[in-house]
Amino acid sequence: MRIRPGRLPDIAGDFACASCEQTFRAPDLDRHFWCEECIAAARARSKRIGVWVGIGLAGALAAWIFLVQQPTIMIGGWIGAVLATFWLGMRIAAELSYGIMRSRSRPG
Ligand SMILES: [Zn+2]
Repeated sequence: MRIRPGRLPDIAGDFACASCEQTFRAPDLDRHFWCEECIAAARARSKRIGVWVGIGLAGALAAWIFLVQQPTIMIGGWIGAVLATFWLGMRIAAELSYGIMRSRSRPG
């Protein structure tokens, strides 16, 4: 079997990061062939996206509560619901956006 030049790396060779295409040693890449820098960039970006989605969802819920429900009692319970919505929306949006970045091989 002939060894072809080009993108096929041998076992001991270098691998290109699937995202930024810089060359790294195999142990420096994760199982999706991403380097640590790209993973950190994607994590940071997905966290930011999560915060904004959480703020948007919680803001929409708060607006609905105060405009439609107009609570006079149990205000603490409504605030809890808004906070829970922010937290859940943030977590879910961060995981989703991170998953999408990974499947696209782009940290953004
Ligand atoms: Zn990279």
